[in-house]
Amino acid sequence: MPNPPLISPTQIDAAAVQAQLEQLARFSSAPAPAVTRVLWSEPDMQARAYLREQCATLGLEMREDGLGNLFARWLGTAPELPAVASGSHIDAIPNAGMYDGTVGVIGVLAAIRALQQVGFTPHRSIELVVFTAEEPTRFGVGCLGSRAMAGTLTLAQLASLRDSDGHTLEQARHAAGYTAELAHVAVPEGHYVAFIELHIEQGPVLEQAGIPIGIVQKIAAPSSLRITLTGEGGHAGAVLMPDRHDALLAAAELALAVEQAACSSGSPDTVGTTGVLRIAPGAVNSIPAHAVMEIDVRDTDLAARDRTLAAIRTATAAISIRRGVQATVELLNADPPAPCAPALTDTVRHVCQTLGIAAQPMISRAYHDSLFMARVCPITMIFIPCYKGYSHRPDEYAAPEAIATGIAVLAQTLAHLSQVSA
Ligand SMILES: [Zn+2]
Repeated sequence: MPNPPLISPTQIDAAAVQAQLEQLARFSSAPAPAVTRVLWSEPDMQARAYLREQCATLGLEMREDGLGNLFARWLGTAPELPAVASGSHIDAIPNAGMYDGTVGVIGVLAAIRALQQVGFTPHRSIELVVFTAEEPTRFGVGCLGSRAMAGTLTLAQLASLRDSDGHTLEQARHAAGYTAELAHVAVPEGHYVAFIELHIEQGPVLEQAGIPIGIVQKIAAPSSLRITLTGEGGHAGAVLMPDRHDALLAAAELALAVEQAACSSGSPDTVGTTGVLRIAPGAVNSIPAHAVMEIDVRDTDLAARDRTLAAIRTATAAISIRRGVQATVELLNADPPAPCAPALTDTVRHVCQTLGIAAQPMISRAYHDSLFMARVCPITMIFIPCYKGYSHRPDEYAAPEAIATGIAVLAQTLAHLSQVSA
């Protein structure tokens, strides 16, 4: 197999990439610079249509599954071999920015364009994957598309999903025009030879180190709990303090217990966050009778993460007894961490050396579709720096040159992997 041509960052059309990212950002339910693009909302449907147009201009062969995962394939000379896949997501949580996920989608299109322009022909096909709903905004499950592709969601679990308006996943996907059988979403074994995801770091490490590329070695294991506390409501004036069973105060103690549990897990990487706290009835003159908390706990060390979850359950039991408040704890998800394939991290490192681009090994503390693609095929991720590590906020920013460098490394890596015959 001939060596692929070298793609340097200057060969990436950074202006075109920027224009495409800006166009995607216009498909938003929030005013600029914020981006809100929730699964199968009008802006999401417009963004999907735009991407299909962009894929068509590159001559890619497109397919969509019943969940709306989009596959756009640049056919290689050996289309029967497992393809090299790369991609990310285009959905955005409320009031987010324009780079999370989109860089890894537009980046693949730019990588393919650059390779086409230098006359490269892939041996294995190269496939862009645009995953449905990496963010849990609509149905409460993160990485919906890639989880289903990995076969980790049963049809019964998919059928049980509802959004906050009470629509089932089945109703919502049909309304969006996705009617193919969900049984066919899971990807068969051996479908892909590798999956590479280009993504902004969403943390400050690369920017602070002044290093343009991070090569991800491991993705942290996320988990989340929903804790429902039921106390006793009453008039804020009439019920005296010793007689109260205030659900909010139990929740407040528990939020501090989450912090304590994460800080004392024994692992410096454990993080615990109470990101949701809803109380009812929610009136100034009414004692909170109900509180619902959603708590995120993660680490690359599975044992430390699970110790933290156990400590939160113990604290919940103690607080509920002491305050006379009923508590139910639901484990919403607890995914295992994903290791990256050494062969792929070596390939990316080698590509960076060849292109003269500095790179460092990293851990991904955020989860990504790669976490689930790791169950389908070998994976790794390429991180690029972003301004102050900001993400999931309107001022999320990655410089055009930083993006172009990431795309050049991605292009070279995809080209290399597409030539590997065995
Ligand atoms: Zn993302």
